Amino acid sequence: MSQDCIFCKIIAGEIPCNKVYEDEDVLAFHDISPIAKVHFLLIPKRHIESLASCTERDAEILSKITLLAPKLAKEQGLDGFRTMINTGKSGGQEVFHLHYHVFGGDAQLPKT
Ligand code: 5GP
Ligand code: ZN
Repeated sequence: MSQDCIFCKIIAGEIPCNKVYEDEDVLAFHDISPIAKVHFLLIPKRHIESLASCTERDAEILSKITLLAPKLAKEQGLDGFRTMINTGKSGGQEVFHLHYHVFGGDAQLPKT
C-alpha cells in the first residue's frame, strides 16, 4: 500500500466506494465522476503507479484485468463499452495507481 494513494485507501476500506467486483488481486468500483451512464474503474490491489511502470512481472495482473473488463461490462448491462488507461500527467492521469476506465451505456460513444 502506498501511503498517499487514494485508490490504496479505497482497497483498504478507509475510503468508501460503490463496488462492482472484488477478488484477491483486483477491485472494480464506480467512478465518482462518471463520464457515461456506466463508468467504473478496474484496479490491481497491488500498488502500481501507471502502465508505464509495468514490467514483465505485471503481465499476469494486466491480463487478468483486461479479461475481466468485458465480463464486468456485460454484468453492468453494457453490450459495447470503451476502455481507457491514462498514463502520466500529460496523458491525463490524475490518480497514480494504475486503473482501467470502463464506460458506456449512452446511445453512441464519439469516435475518439
Ligand atoms: P485518471 O484521470 O487518473 O485516469 O482517472 C482518475 C479517476 O478516478 C477519475 O475519473 C476520477 O473521477 C476518479 N476518482 C478520483 N477519486 C475518486 C474516489 O475517491 N472515488 C472514486 N470512486 N473515484 C475517484
Ligand atoms: Zn495505490
